[in-house]
Amino acid sequence: MFRKAHLLFTLLCGGSTAAIMVIMSLFYLSVSEKSLYDNQFRSFQNDISTITASLEQSTSVSMQWLARIEAQNGYSIFIVDNGTPFLYNDLHSNVDPTSQSLFSESLDAYNASILVENLDPEGNTYSGIWHSEYEFTSPTTGDSFYASLIDIERNRILSQIIILFPLSSLHVSIMSQRILFLLIDLCAVIALFTFSWVFTGKLLKPLQQNHEKQLQFVAAASHELRTPLSAILASNECCQTASEEERVGFSQTIRGEGKRMNNLIDDMLTLAHSGMSRFQIDRKSVELDTLCLNAYEAFEPLCEQKCIELSLQLPDAPLIRCSCDPDRIAQVLSILLHNALSYTPEGGQINLSLFYRKERKPYFEIVVTDTGIGITDAEKPHIFDRFYRAEKSRSTKGHFGLGLSIAYEIVTGHHGKISVRDNPLGGSIFTVKLPE
Ligand code: ADP
Repeated sequence: MFRKAHLLFTLLCGGSTAAIMVIMSLFYLSVSEKSLYDNQFRSFQNDISTITASLEQSTSVSMQWLARIEAQNGYSIFIVDNGTPFLYNDLHSNVDPTSQSLFSESLDAYNASILVENLDPEGNTYSGIWHSEYEFTSPTTGDSFYASLIDIERNRILSQIIILFPLSSLHVSIMSQRILFLLIDLCAVIALFTFSWVFTGKLLKPLQQNHEKQLQFVAAASHELRTPLSAILASNECCQTASEEERVGFSQTIRGEGKRMNNLIDDMLTLAHSGMSRFQIDRKSVELDTLCLNAYEAFEPLCEQKCIELSLQLPDAPLIRCSCDPDRIAQVLSILLHNALSYTPEGGQINLSLFYRKERKPYFEIVVTDTGIGITDAEKPHIFDRFYRAEKSRSTKGHFGLGLSIAYEIVTGHHGKISVRDNPLGGSIFTVKLPE
């Protein structure tokens, strides 16, 4: 399920960002290509304006000058003098037979698109130079050019100069720009999908862990519930054939196991609600010393029964009140004292202390110390996990491994901290820190 979701999120996340990126880069590419064409055409027009200005100033056209312009700018130049191709065309090495046809094709293209009026309608004689730039594609070779037709009118003699600039080099640079963009886009798409895979994987990991924990929780809960339920069913079965006296015993077992089940279900509900908004901390202004005193009084007879010495240590000065949920904190005290009582053998000692620490951020500290069997370093990181019991054989009936996980949820729900360390005298020390 999570693998499928991972794949789906990756496709969704990577696909959408990659699509946006590709669309943006295509847009940029088209803008950049258009500006390349525009710039090239503008520079061609500027060159032609310069050439025309020189032609206007001189009375004759020098062949060397034309050859220099051709060589400098990569142009091909063709001259028609009063309808006759100029000698320059034959002499110049750039102009091969194919070029000759190119010139006539470009002239045809020009004539087909623009009507040129070189003479005024009155037929007056005057001198002048006109030039016009356009793009044309040779119908025979398919090559594209920027072309300029310069008409020179002097004393009713018309000379025409055609200048061609091949766009092949521009096409090559545009093609290489496209290939570069394609490669960059390809790398970016791969990087985006890899990032999305890693990112969504990290995002889903806590959900997956949570899901696995829930499955473990359900499995462990079913397992724990089965034990008292089996005992109840078995006792009920036996009741059918048992004597009156035995029945009393069986009904006691049923009641006891039913109570165990009830406690377990309560614990499970508390933990189930801890992950939801229903796990509310009903804060009140509470005297923590009173809460500790109540817990002490509740456990004193139980400790006495087990010959364990229970002591209480409260601050001498009156304490400021703590903003906390009194029922929940009383539950934490009960869990810690119950554990201390369960895991401390006869003749041991348990101490419940309360401190108010005036640090930069003042807090209350509740400490439960016992001289019991203690908790090994290997077990310490797990004791707050649900259904964890350090050594199952050690646990007495009624211990499901949920107490400390409930205490943990309550304390963290109060933005506090709960921790355990070894008691130097043997046993464990549990510390609960609650913010003021
Ligand atoms: P349980 O209901 O089994 O006590 P808890 O979550 O309260 O479950 O405790 C988890 C485990 O941590 C216990 O099974 C026990 O092995 C260990 N533990 C808890 N408190 C103490 C303690 N005071 N001394 C020794 N071991 C303890």
